[in-house]
Amino acid sequence: MAFPKSKTSSPWLVTPGGKLRLGSIDTAGTPEAPKAGERSEAEKPTRALREELRVLQGALQGEAKRSVLLVLQAMDTGGKDGTVKSIYAGINPVGAEVSSFGVPNDDEIARDFLWRIHVKTPPKGKIGIFNRSHYEDVLAVRVRNIAPESVWRPRFAAINDYERILTESGTTVVKIMLHISEAEQKLRLQSRVDRLEKRWKFRMGDIEDRQLWGDYQKAYEEAINETSTDHAPWFVVPADKKWYRDFAVLTIFVDVLKGIDPQYPKFDNLDGLQIP
Ligand code: ADP
Repeated sequence: MAFPKSKTSSPWLVTPGGKLRLGSIDTAGTPEAPKAGERSEAEKPTRALREELRVLQGALQGEAKRSVLLVLQAMDTGGKDGTVKSIYAGINPVGAEVSSFGVPNDDEIARDFLWRIHVKTPPKGKIGIFNRSHYEDVLAVRVRNIAPESVWRPRFAAINDYERILTESGTTVVKIMLHISEAEQKLRLQSRVDRLEKRWKFRMGDIEDRQLWGDYQKAYEEAINETSTDHAPWFVVPADKKWYRDFAVLTIFVDVLKGIDPQYPKFDNLDGLQIP
């Protein structure tokens, strides 16, 4: 099974075999946004996308033959949680599962890096969302020098193989990087410190990672270029504007589901059945 082709998702698509330069993307840009990038103009189309998503998810669940995995990656404060919330506003939670991946625990570290990931892939009929993912094993692990290059570099090939196995088993893998600027991250981190209701989200480690901004961008760039494949391409969404991020992610996700075109099973044997 190939990744479904679409025209509308193309402004965010990282062409397989291409050379993405994160620095050349305007993180505050609004390509494809309705009416010159006005927030208020995007509200109605965003609601309509959620409605489309609701209908498509119903068919995916009813068909129960295929599944979709949405992989979300971003720098700290990039908007992964907000994006999950926005998607959930359009789906039935019963047919979906979010998995968050933090620093591996002892059980996880004692096994291969895909062990904890694979067990969370969505079964047939379901939507899975990864809040961080196996990509941390070529991002955080690389930038923080947790393992040497001889360990993390071969993982690009392992990831491509793993995602091909998923695709061939009926799981479409949609990978989205929410791309924010260094300046926007500063504002968001400051607001986490300043506002009590956000403070719980702040970790001192966020400052350490921020100091490695350039290394992270380089690691993201290479990881995306190495793993944007025909079967599981990457999308990079400018994410400084939250309303735009939600609009773009929903556009991509709905497009993919439309391409999959899930169908309710007919159960012809039930035609004309009267319940006694
Ligand atoms: P989030 O920042 O996603 O809201 P946390 O504050 O719990 O969630 O942070 C999770 C942390 O776990 C991140 O700093 C991330 O880089 C780290 N992490 C995730 N996976 C790995 C991994 N495989 N190896 C090392 N660190 C990881």
